Amino acid sequence: MSRIAVIGAGFSGLSAAAYLADWGHQVDVYEKNDSAGGRARQWKTDSGYIFDMGPSWYWMPDVFDRFFGDFGYNTADFYQLTLLDPAFDMVFPHRDMMQIPANFNELCVLFESIEKGSCARLQRFMEEAKFKYRKGMEELVYMPCQSVAEFARLDLLAGILRMQVFGSFGKHVRKYFSHPKLIALMEFPILFLGAMPEESPALYRLMNYAGLVLGTWYPQGGFGKVVEAIMQIARKKDAGFYFSSPVEAIIVEDGLAKAIVVNGYSIEYDAIIAAADYQHVDNELLPPSCRNYTQSYWDKRTLAPSCLIYYIGLDKKIDALQHHTLFFDEDLALHSKEIYKTPQWPTKPLFYLCCPSRTDKTVAPPGHENLFLLMPLAAGLPDSEDIREKYFKIMMDRLEGHLGQEIRSHIDFRSSYCASDFVDDYNSFKGNAYGLANTLSQTAFMKTSISNKKVRNLYYAGQLTVPGPGVPPSLISGKIAAKQLSAYLKRIAHEGVV
Ligand SMILES: Cc1cc2nc3c(=O)[nH]c(=O)nc-3n(C[C@H](O)[C@H](O)[C@H](O)COP(=O)(O)OP(=O)(O)OC[C@H]3O[C@@H](n4cnc5c(N)ncnc54)[C@H](O)[C@@H]3O)c2cc1C
Repeated sequence: MSRIAVIGAGFSGLSAAAYLADWGHQVDVYEKNDSAGGRARQWKTDSGYIFDMGPSWYWMPDVFDRFFGDFGYNTADFYQLTLLDPAFDMVFPHRDMMQIPANFNELCVLFESIEKGSCARLQRFMEEAKFKYRKGMEELVYMPCQSVAEFARLDLLAGILRMQVFGSFGKHVRKYFSHPKLIALMEFPILFLGAMPEESPALYRLMNYAGLVLGTWYPQGGFGKVVEAIMQIARKKDAGFYFSSPVEAIIVEDGLAKAIVVNGYSIEYDAIIAAADYQHVDNELLPPSCRNYTQSYWDKRTLAPSCLIYYIGLDKKIDALQHHTLFFDEDLALHSKEIYKTPQWPTKPLFYLCCPSRTDKTVAPPGHENLFLLMPLAAGLPDSEDIREKYFKIMMDRLEGHLGQEIRSHIDFRSSYCASDFVDDYNSFKGNAYGLANTLSQTAFMKTSISNKKVRNLYYAGQLTVPGPGVPPSLISGKIAAKQLSAYLKRIAHEGVV
């Protein structure tokens, strides 16, 4: 049994802690904030609203099932999942709307009604996407990606070639579909989670399969229930949790992490999982000689977007709203360019609205509605109250236009969250919300390494290392880091190799 410190209680840290505690180690989790969940924390207001502060799309339910299965549980042991049908609404220019059904056959009918012949093409597209999902999510994403040699198995190589890792996602989508609405539907997950579609590997077609075939789900009680479930598992295995406990430094001697410094006190450990933002750990907690990457390396990375969020409570119900609505009623290409190519506050933003109280009575007082507005934004931009307010007005004007009713006078709770809050709350590099962009040069073994090359007992987890951004990848990242560390600890225990 080793004593292991986990830095950060987001999904990746919780996952790593649960696995390591389950394998018999003594695990302590240190979190700078006063609650667990990281970017997926919940905020309970005095007026009775419960806001999921980050994630709201529960995709890839099989990844969660596999996670709970590893500990002998089912997802249903912890929370109830509701399949959203319709999955979501998309709003286009001139009040044109598209409602995405949960059922794939109905989706095919919808495609055909928009573009002749697209039903058959969607079926072909999804057959390939299913292969990518199965190969990608069941095998490739669990690989530590420490070297190209890991991919040297013949069956893996054949799979990778078929996965079109090197093709462009944007070009690929356009081979199948030409109507702008269908292209927008296929490209939105890529855009919101991390890169221009033309620069994302076609591999990410697996996201389309995840979203449009496996379904969009909602955990009753919100994502906070998922956080609680993982904490419960880790606690049952005696993991300790220390909140309001920011790690201030990692002490390294002779290539081994010896201790962490928390609130001025040094606490000794045999090994460390750093599940806080990678750049913060590397450049702010470690001495310069022990860093994996220089600041100039970080400055050259393509970051996934930051975002402007509004958490809103309404004192009336809005029956016309779905759980998820995507406002694609402005120029998608222009907004992507202003996120990735010429970073600036968007001229005509796209945005997203979540109304979880349509599905869940517990997240708003009776007769009230819980709204979450999110506008993707280039990482690294300065933000201020004035600018947040400007975009609040833009989003509300378009939301009210879409609903055909005034709702501003019914707001009884409102709070904004933007780039500077990501920095203050999570030590986020440039205020990124979702880590590194999913570009080809930042995929698999070209991503930031899960192990520290100079500190042998230090491993990283989280959305800035493999496999990448999103709740399911963060859970997987925690497992990969835990396995790598565990293997290292076994090596030194059995062979005395340090
Ligand atoms: C607004 C938003 C919407 C999203 N929507 C979705 C979605 O719909 N679906 C989806 O699957 N994913 C979504 N994501 C992505 C998903 O939430 C993240 O990928 C995932 O939660 C990241 O987990 P993590 O453990 O890597 O990082 P984090 O959650 O950031 O956890 C890192 C933790 O480390 C802590 N920390 C930092 N520095 C220190 C320190 N020095 N000492 C101690 N602790 C420290 C932080 O406080 C934080 O709690 C969204 C993210 C955001 C921000």
